[in-house]
Amino acid sequence: MWQKYYVEGKSLDGGSVMEFLTLEVNMEVGNMEESIKWDDSRYEIMDIIEVIEDNKELQIPIKCPICNTNNAHIYMYRFEIVRGTIWTWCSNCKSCTHGSRMKLPEWWENADFIDNSELTSHPIFLERKVKMVDKHLRQLLEKRI
Ligand SMILES: [Zn+2]
Repeated sequence: MWQKYYVEGKSLDGGSVMEFLTLEVNMEVGNMEESIKWDDSRYEIMDIIEVIEDNKELQIPIKCPICNTNNAHIYMYRFEIVRGTIWTWCSNCKSCTHGSRMKLPEWWENADFIDNSELTSHPIFLERKVKMVDKHLRQLLEKRI
C-alpha cells in the first residue's frame, strides 16, 4: 500500500517530506527562464501519489488537488533497488514537487525515454515528454492489476 511507502520515506531521515524537497537542489543551468514558471511551494500536489495507489480506474492525467483540472502527472526514478525520487506536477497551474530517497512501489519501472540528465528539481524535461510519461504510468498500472 502506498501510504506505507510514503510514510517510510518520510521518516528515513527523521525529517518531513518538505525538508527532503528543499534539501535536494539540482542545478538547472541554462534553464533558469523555464525554471521560474514552476511553483514548488504547494506541497498538496504530492497528494496524487496516494491517488494512484488507491484508484484502479485512475484517470490520467490525474486531477490536480490545487487547480482541480485533469492536468497532474507523476514520474518516479529508481536510483537504488528500493528508493528513488518522485516528481509530481501540474501542466495547468505549474505546481510541482519532488521528493528524493522515497521508497518506491515495487511495480515501478524507470522509463527508457527519460535520461538521467533530464531529471531536474523542476519538471522541465518531464513536461516536454508528458504524453509519454502518462502512457508509461498507465502501462505500469495496468500491468500491476
Ligand atoms: Zn493544477
